[in-house]
Amino acid sequence: MPLFVTASRLWISFLLVVLLNESHSFAIIVPGELECKALLAKFSDHPLRPVGTAEQETIFKLIDQVAQEFMGNDKFHSPTAWRQRTASSGLPGLDLPEDVGGKGYSARKMVNIFEFAGRHSLDLRDVSGGGHSRTLLDSTKPEQREVMKGVAEGKNYVAIAITEPTHGSDIAGMKSVSKKADGGYLITGKKKYNARLENGTHVVIFTQAPSSSADHPKLNAFLLPLNYPGLKIESLEASGLKGNSFGGVSFDNLFVPEKYLIGEDGQGREILGKHFTYWRIMQTAAAIGTANRALEMTSQRLLEREVYDKPLASMTHLTQPLGKWTYRLHLVMRDLERAAQLYDEGKWEEADELATAAKSEGVEFAHQAAEYALKTHGAQGYSDELDLEKRVRDLLGLTIADGASDVLMSSYVRKKFGKPFWDIPFGRPKEKGQP
Ligand SMILES: Cc1cc2nc3c(=O)[nH]c(=O)nc-3n(C[C@H](O)[C@H](O)[C@H](O)COP(=O)(O)OP(=O)(O)OC[C@H]3O[C@@H](n4cnc5c(N)ncnc54)[C@H](O)[C@@H]3O)c2cc1C
Repeated sequence: MPLFVTASRLWISFLLVVLLNESHSFAIIVPGELECKALLAKFSDHPLRPVGTAEQETIFKLIDQVAQEFMGNDKFHSPTAWRQRTASSGLPGLDLPEDVGGKGYSARKMVNIFEFAGRHSLDLRDVSGGGHSRTLLDSTKPEQREVMKGVAEGKNYVAIAITEPTHGSDIAGMKSVSKKADGGYLITGKKKYNARLENGTHVVIFTQAPSSSADHPKLNAFLLPLNYPGLKIESLEASGLKGNSFGGVSFDNLFVPEKYLIGEDGQGREILGKHFTYWRIMQTAAAIGTANRALEMTSQRLLEREVYDKPLASMTHLTQPLGKWTYRLHLVMRDLERAAQLYDEGKWEEADELATAAKSEGVEFAHQAAEYALKTHGAQGYSDELDLEKRVRDLLGLTIADGASDVLMSSYVRKKFGKPFWDIPFGRPKEKGQP
């Protein structure tokens, strides 16, 4: 054996001994899929794992414990299975108010919990906290607070339906309508490409408000049980994020009593805006967790896999991106923490500006980092022996879901440089209404 091969092997052995003896605090080793077990069993170091406060570490332990329990069966990627299993420990209610059985955690506390959960699978973006039931936070209606209570108890799971067959990013172009009727509303419309409609219990449906006009588009938001007579659910198959269902819902002249309206008539846009500021921060944090774990797996692969009698780590074109993606994701994470802080302080506009840019760039970075991780694993990475191909598919889905990356970047440019940067490309003639 050539001398340099022996020397490099000795060096790797030395490195492994150092890695294994490092005093990092790390999680129980729980790979996203059974097949990762062999790979992970050799190393116990998780250098990109977030280090939490004592309170957060308790939650991290719970997530690891349930991941271990669910490993190898369908429950692993099922948000509803997780929510039911962890309700007694408070996971689904972490960010819900205490009066509905939640723990009232701040956004700043939640952001690292989302990151941690995302390390196991991006499907776990939906297991910590109240999810889309947070659109009800300001509601005083007893029925709606009951729904939140059910969410905290792991019984309810709330879908959200905004996107339509002909309008997605362009919310002002929404076709679904609500008209005033005696004691409530008549709603008509068709929603499509919406998650959770089949595994959820309730749905928040957005329509134009009766008072909406071309100059002042306004929305209404309704909370309905998914078994509400007259709602027609349609199924579709998505490429990733399969822990949730994917499909559409339609309703035709459907009577909805006043008690199902969230907030005041015409308040839908504000409810949507505030909710998605929070939601985008958390979803991006989960995406970063998903990508960080892929990078950790890659660091192991770089040391283990030999080509031409040398480890892959001997090729700097493979090691350089490991650092580059790690650092970029780290920077986005710092901005998410800042955005969460601003959100907690009630500085919505500042929080929203940062969250918009961080979701736009952060999820793209995470997707590209995971793709690099997959390719560094060669054919094995492309196969379902590992969960890297799933991570890539899921992250691609999140570059579209909850605001497509370039739509959010257009919005960020508008927020930073002024309305003309939106009106020039996307403004409508006055009579058709401005976005
Ligand atoms: C996995 C997944 C889950 C989803 N879950 C839900 C859900 O639960 N509820 C729900 O309502 N919807 C959901 N969606 C739909 C999602 O919100 C929309 O797909 C998204 O808002 C984009 O809308 P669109 O698909 O109609 O794309 P379009 O609006 O047709 O846009 C297509 C592309 O055009 C470009 N574009 C459009 N407008 C602009 C702009 N202003 N600036 C720059 N570029 C622009 C962008 O490249 C954009 O990606 C989900 C989507 C996915 C993939």
